[in-house]
Amino acid sequence: MPTPATDSEFSFELLVCRWAELGWPPGGDASDADAGSDDAAPVIVSRQLGTKKRRWDTIVIECDPAGLAARREFGDRTIDGDLLPVVRHAPAEWAYYRDALPDPGYPWRYVREAIHRAAARGLVEKRKNGNRIEIRRKRPYPDWVSRIIAIENKPDLDASAAAALSDQLEHDVDTALADEVWLATGRTGERVEPALLRQFPVEAGVLTFDFSDGTHGDAATVDWLPSTLDPESDSGRFDAAEKARRRRLIAERAYGKGWRSFAETTRPDCRWFELARAGRGTVPTCAAKGRCQSEAECGRRCGSFEPEPPQWRTNGWPIDGGPGQGVQQLLERRRERARER
Ligand code: SF4
Repeated sequence: MPTPATDSEFSFELLVCRWAELGWPPGGDASDADAGSDDAAPVIVSRQLGTKKRRWDTIVIECDPAGLAARREFGDRTIDGDLLPVVRHAPAEWAYYRDALPDPGYPWRYVREAIHRAAARGLVEKRKNGNRIEIRRKRPYPDWVSRIIAIENKPDLDASAAAALSDQLEHDVDTALADEVWLATGRTGERVEPALLRQFPVEAGVLTFDFSDGTHGDAATVDWLPSTLDPESDSGRFDAAEKARRRRLIAERAYGKGWRSFAETTRPDCRWFELARAGRGTVPTCAAKGRCQSEAECGRRCGSFEPEPPQWRTNGWPIDGGPGQGVQQLLERRRERARER
């Protein structure tokens, strides 16, 4: 099958995410990365994450291997911002929760609710001692994040796209929530890549991609190396403690979400939805439109949506539930495998 056209931002972003699993860090020996080199730090890749004001296209979390193994003991789901203080500060021995946990700065009844949720998920233990709720940790919450990398994707850098991107990258450099900020764009093959001629902050790195053969560990070229930012110091927008809190939340959300969650936001249950191979990755394609659809158009309001015929679900389809559920199960299995690398 020919490589599907990957000119939509959505499919470009998915191929960048898959490349990051195969080829991060850029500029290394891609054949090692493709082979799963033991030297490369394990990475968790996610997409469309960030803060209320700023959403990053692709996030790469470089992980401490022992820390990541310890994080797995807490299960696959994100530990959200309410649960995280409980899980991180739960003591080794039974203690009254108000003595053990830091003052939340909001009413303690919300903390009690979080304790009940954390205990129901098996993240901490709780017991009643008279009128008091006591908590105890089951295991220490690890420092599993080594570095956070933010990548902004723009396959075609026309002038207006470049102007908008420039503001976003400036913001990312100023806030320094990530350790590195990159721009990912399509490779033109020109003597000087157009991305280098635009007014981007010099602290942002530039990666150019050739996905004509789909995605591989060596699909990226480093055209400009980024500066290492300082996520541990105060920036104009956040103090160091707030940055550390936000980084933990971003990492947790990335861990739970991964990048294959598009199966939950698009319509694999549509008869026209297909997954097409693109090198060592796959991208969704729409047989009705004859191209890679965008994430926004592949939704409830799509005028071409048609449910899978019922007989697809029963007529010898090898995976229970029909092709749509097969796609979702396949992506979920790969999402789980990505956490275990
Ligand atoms: S027809 Fe619409 S809903 Fe169905 S796969 Fe194509 S874009 Fe998605």
